[in-house]
Amino acid sequence: KGTIILQVRVASLGAEYILILADDRTEITRTEEIRNDFVANVSHELKTPVGAISLLAEALDDAAEDEVAVRRFAQRMHKESGRLSALVQDIIELSRLQGADIVRKGKPVNLNTVIQEAVDRNRLPAESNSIEIVVRGTVDEPVFGDPDQLMTAFRNLIDNAIRYSPEGTRVGIGLRSRDGLAEVSVTDQGTGITAEEQERIFERFYRIDAARSRSTGGTGLGLSIVKHVVSNHGGEVTVWSMAGQGSTFTVRLPEMESADDAQGAEAQPS
Ligand code: ADP
Repeated sequence: KGTIILQVRVASLGAEYILILADDRTEITRTEEIRNDFVANVSHELKTPVGAISLLAEALDDAAEDEVAVRRFAQRMHKESGRLSALVQDIIELSRLQGADIVRKGKPVNLNTVIQEAVDRNRLPAESNSIEIVVRGTVDEPVFGDPDQLMTAFRNLIDNAIRYSPEGTRVGIGLRSRDGLAEVSVTDQGTGITAEEQERIFERFYRIDAARSRSTGGTGLGLSIVKHVVSNHGGEVTVWSMAGQGSTFTVRLPEMESADDAQGAEAQPS
C-alpha cells in the first residue's frame, strides 16, 4: 500500500540492492478519506434522531390541549433521544478505541469473570425476549488487556445475538483455551447472515436491515467496536453463519503465559 520495492543490480559494484520507496502521501490520503467518510456517516446518522426530535417538539407544541397526543409525542421523543444518546456513546467509544494504548495500560484480565458479568448485564433484554443464555466451559489463563474494553466487546456480541433472534430461542456462549489462545464463541439461533453480508458487517454503520437495527436500538457501530477491541488485544474475531440458521461469532485472544505471574493481580471490569 503506497510502497514500491525495487530490486536493482549495480553492475559496477557487482551487488544487488533493494530499494524501498515509501509513498507516505498515499497512506495519508487514505486515512483522510476514511475520516471524511466517517464524518459524513456520523452526520447522516445524527440527523435522523435530531430531525425527529425537532419535529416531535413542534407537534407537541401544537397538541398542547390534546392530552393523549401529548403523551404519545413525549414517549416518541424519549425513544428518539435514547437512540441519539446510544449513538453518541458508541461514536465516543469508537474514537477512544482508535487511540487506545493497550500495552501501556493493560493488566491481566480474567475472561471467565468478564463473560459472566457481560451475561448478567444482558439478562434483562434476554428475559424480555424469552431468550435463554447458556454459558459453557472456561478459559485457563488470563489475557493481557483492558477489562472495560473487553466487557464492551462481549456485551455487544451478546446484545446482537439477542436482538437478531426470535423469541424463545437460545444464545450459547462457549469458552475454552486452545494453543495459547482464549476462545469465546457466541452462538444464536437467529436470522443468520449470508456470506456476502459477513464481509461487510464489521464496517462502521453497515447494517443488513437498517429498520430492524434501529427499531431494536442498534447504532450500526457494535461490530466495528468489537473488531477494534479485539485487534487492540492482538486477537481476531470471525463469524460463521448461514441465513436463517443462526450465527456464531468467535473471538480469539492470546493468553498470558503463566497463571503464576497474574495471581492476585487479575483486574475486573469497573
Ligand atoms: P447494529 O447496531 O445495527 O446491530 P452492528 O455493527 O452490531 O450494528 O452489526 C451490524 C449488522 O450486522 C447488524 O445491523 C445486523 O444486520 C448484522 N448482525 C450483527 N450481529 C448479528 C447476529 N447475531 N445475527 C444476525 N445479524 C447480525
